[in-house]
Amino acid sequence: MTLNYWQALAQGKCPSCRKGNMYKYSIFNLTKFTEMHKNCPVCGFKFEIEPGFFYGAMYVGYAISVATIITVFTAINILYPKASLSVFIGSVVVAVLLMIPVNFRYSRIMMLYFFGGVKYKGEVAEEQ
Ligand SMILES: [Zn+2]
Repeated sequence: MTLNYWQALAQGKCPSCRKGNMYKYSIFNLTKFTEMHKNCPVCGFKFEIEPGFFYGAMYVGYAISVATIITVFTAINILYPKASLSVFIGSVVVAVLLMIPVNFRYSRIMMLYFFGGVKYKGEVAEEQ
C-alpha cells in the first residue's frame, strides 16, 4: 500500500520512498525518541540532505510551540474565563513540556518535507 504525501508525513516516513521510517524508535520511547536513521532503511535516502540541515527545524519547532501556547491559552480562556494567571502559565508550561517529543520529531519531519525539496521516487522494489 502506498501512502500519500500527508500520510507519509504524519507517520514520519522517508519522503523519497514513503516506506522507511525516519526515526529508529517509537515516539513513546522517552529516552530514544530523538534517534534518527542516517539513511532510509528501505531506499537509502540520506535524511540530512546537507550538513546542518536540521538546524532549520528549530524555526519549525518554534512555530509548533507558539501554536501550542495559543491553543492552550485560548482553550483555558474559553473553558475557565476566570482562571488566574498562574493557571494559564502552568497549563502552558505543562502542555509545551508534554509536546517535546511531538515537537522535536515533527519539526524535523516538516523541515524535510516542506523545505528539503525532496521528490517522491515512487514504488521501490520490495526484496524478494
Ligand atoms: Zn526511503
